[in-house]
Amino acid sequence: MSRRVGVLTSGGDAPGMNAAIRTVVRAAIHYNMEPMAIYRGYHGLIRGEIEPLTSRSVSGIIQRGGTILKSARSEEFKTPEGRQKAVDMLKKHGIESLIVIGGDGSLTGALELDKLGIRVVGIPATIDNDIACTDYSIGFDTAVNTVMEAVNKIRDTASSHERVYVVEVMGRHSGYIALYSGLAGGADVIIIPEVPYDVEKVCEHIKHANQQGKTYNIIMVAEGASHGGLEDFGGSPSIAIARYIQENTGYDTRITILGHIQRGGAPTMRDRLLASRLAYHAVELVYQGRSRRMVGEVDHVVKSWDLEFALAQEKQINLDYYHLSNILSSI
Ligand code: ADP
Repeated sequence: MSRRVGVLTSGGDAPGMNAAIRTVVRAAIHYNMEPMAIYRGYHGLIRGEIEPLTSRSVSGIIQRGGTILKSARSEEFKTPEGRQKAVDMLKKHGIESLIVIGGDGSLTGALELDKLGIRVVGIPATIDNDIACTDYSIGFDTAVNTVMEAVNKIRDTASSHERVYVVEVMGRHSGYIALYSGLAGGADVIIIPEVPYDVEKVCEHIKHANQQGKTYNIIMVAEGASHGGLEDFGGSPSIAIARYIQENTGYDTRITILGHIQRGGAPTMRDRLLASRLAYHAVELVYQGRSRRMVGEVDHVVKSWDLEFALAQEKQINLDYYHLSNILSSI
């Protein structure tokens, strides 16, 4: 069995990827395997951007956001020819096992490599937390804490003015960031792709809250929320919602689109622990010669699943959080 294990990060970067890389490298050495860096995801793999890693190559990175292996998207890898080039490159470097750290696109790519005879283990890392078979993916906790701190700051300025603040956060298909940061940040309304909403009711909610003595309101909107019938108001859902609220309540309304700050920053303790534990288990599976697995943590226990099964499951959002937020903001 080959003793060489490749590791790459792919797709959107997430804080904690470095902590995962560090563990992959050191755990591989612990198991007498040779860790090999593949730079720039599948793009770099096809081009042979591969070199050995040592324990010292991953010194001083546990606290850093981003990924020292760089990340990329590769259209070529989506073609059979591109994937064959990737397989040839892995064989050329004597790599039979590959650990892929990334989101669902990257893990789907890993599954394709398994079909071509490469042993793969996936580690879910995406701030969107939209991967099933793990309670959380690497990067989510840091992103939510970043958003929560931004909301704290908006609250400071909000308390000086009587305004409605609409805050747009990441999540093209998933409301996890909006829901968790909304509940933790004390938002008045949370608008997510998973739950239909009525903008009239949002306006009523704001008016009611203000009659109760609230002087400002915070509305969290996931970027992937629907327009809720507000397409004519233009822009993203958050812009349309803000315009509608201003026109229909008369309250001065401001929009904050948090954007890429949500991807950056030092990973939180939770993300570092999650990354370290998932990556260690991924290396154990490689050592055992397993393939087509995805590691995840459910109810605080690290496990692995068949990768194809995991990718076919739909991640469910915890609607208890949504209902709790509604209760707390309506009193
Ligand atoms: P993420 O991993 O964050 O979801 P992407 O969806 O952009 O990010 O995927 C990252 C890369 O994974 C893509 O650029 C592509 O090279 C590869 N990939 C994504 N989907 C597939 C697929 N269906 N088949 C093969 N490779 C894929």
